[in-house]
Amino acid sequence: MRRILWFRRDLRIEDNPLLSLDGEVLPIFIFDTNILDKLTKQDKRVSFIFGYVSKLKQDLLACGLELKIFFGSPKDVFASLTSHKMDEVVACGDYDSYAKQRDLEISQKLHFRYIKDTYIFKPDEVLKEDKTPYLVFTPYYKKARLLLESKNIEATSQAEQKLIPVEYEGITKIDANGVSTKLPFSLESLGFEMQKLKIIHPHAKLEKFKQNIQNYKQMRDFLNEDVGSNLSVDLRFGTISTRAVLRSVLSLKNLECEPFIRQLIFRDFYAYLLFHMPRLETQNYKPSFNGIEDREKYEFFCKAQTGVPIVDAGVRELLQTGKMHNRVRMVTASFFTKDLLLPWQWGEEFFAEHLLDFDKASNVLSWQWSAGTGVDPQPYFRVFNPYLQSKKFDKDANYIKKYIPELTHVESKYLHDENYLLGATIQGYPKPMVHHKEAAKIAVEKFKHGVEGLR
Ligand SMILES: Cc1cc2nc3c(=O)[nH]c(=O)nc-3n(C[C@H](O)[C@H](O)[C@H](O)COP(=O)(O)OP(=O)(O)OC[C@H]3O[C@@H](n4cnc5c(N)ncnc54)[C@H](O)[C@@H]3O)c2cc1C
Repeated sequence: MRRILWFRRDLRIEDNPLLSLDGEVLPIFIFDTNILDKLTKQDKRVSFIFGYVSKLKQDLLACGLELKIFFGSPKDVFASLTSHKMDEVVACGDYDSYAKQRDLEISQKLHFRYIKDTYIFKPDEVLKEDKTPYLVFTPYYKKARLLLESKNIEATSQAEQKLIPVEYEGITKIDANGVSTKLPFSLESLGFEMQKLKIIHPHAKLEKFKQNIQNYKQMRDFLNEDVGSNLSVDLRFGTISTRAVLRSVLSLKNLECEPFIRQLIFRDFYAYLLFHMPRLETQNYKPSFNGIEDREKYEFFCKAQTGVPIVDAGVRELLQTGKMHNRVRMVTASFFTKDLLLPWQWGEEFFAEHLLDFDKASNVLSWQWSAGTGVDPQPYFRVFNPYLQSKKFDKDANYIKKYIPELTHVESKYLHDENYLLGATIQGYPKPMVHHKEAAKIAVEKFKHGVEGLR
């Protein structure tokens, strides 16, 4: 059997099922121009991926294998490989609409096989008795937890593989006419600039997280406590296997691990919903209020100039680091869709452009949850009060002041006080652009009408 092993969301050799397939292999990675062409040259994710692709190449070499790296559209790359007479291409499943269409096109030319890797379960493994998908998380979680036997998280072992001899050096650029050009192996060859990123090995993150796991449930929402695993970017690009994370945490045999396992299952649930209902990528699950397209408000949000400290701090954290604390993601998404009444799709796109851990399923479904428009959303009448949220989770305003230096001289308690912020003049920082209580009242009416008026 001659196989192309297509590395995508699994940039590692440890516990990688692609390496458990025997026979002749051609391991490849594609820097996909359909995706890269839309990004800025300073995109942090491309630097992250480039670093891990380099590591993957080194690690494969150490096992007697190699990695052929392409730059082009996957369709053109696969067309260029036809002369190698391959039997199949194998890759881990990827469920957003672009990925599905891309794989479908390739499967029309070469036998395509998905293997389970990115998620704990395949989309058809956790179904209701009547074989339809769950739409509510808690029953999904209960069923998934029952199924989470060791067989789902066993480590894969490395098979005997024989490397197909081709030219592995540099980067092979394939253009739309099928013309192949050899480029030096560098990020600049792809037209990107290397960004400074603080990269911590995922196993080191996991070990640190496990030492503190008993605080995860209680402290996770506090903005100055670093008790989360910080593994989302690694799970996104597969620099650690989800199974390895689960094996490691479950081995603690500690009930306090459960809230974390629940989040990993949440990640699976969102990918599962997108797989079963692809239209959710852009559309509300049920008819609902669709937001109002207001470019001016949107620009204030994106420039972190809403005048609501916790929201602006979150946006600045995102722009500066590519990260945003989960609680702040919830507060900003609520503010965006409820206080500003902007369409959730715009917010989703903004996060997609900047999040290091951007994942279509988690991002879209989280935005729909916040807007109250998705499957199993929070009720539309529940609107986060950003001032109460910051008072509770950033009492001393350390997080706010870290990202908004213009506010360092303001007494912390005032940064959670809407009336103060509406009345005061703070040098270099705007007044809140909406009055929260009034905005929330309007939002509830709009969403109520959206839901009931369309029934
Ligand atoms: C509006 C909004 C957009 C989001 N967009 C993304 C996104 O694009 N990519 C992404 O990975 N997460 C997204 N999340 C979920 C969550 O904010 C991040 O996964 C989390 O902040 C990552 O930090 P961590 O690795 O320390 O997570 P931990 O708390 O340590 O959780 C462990 C893992 O579980 C998964 N996870 C945790 N919370 C969630 C959640 N609510 N939904 C789905 N999976 C979860 C992540 O893979 C995470 O690494 C979004 C949340 C919101 C509210």
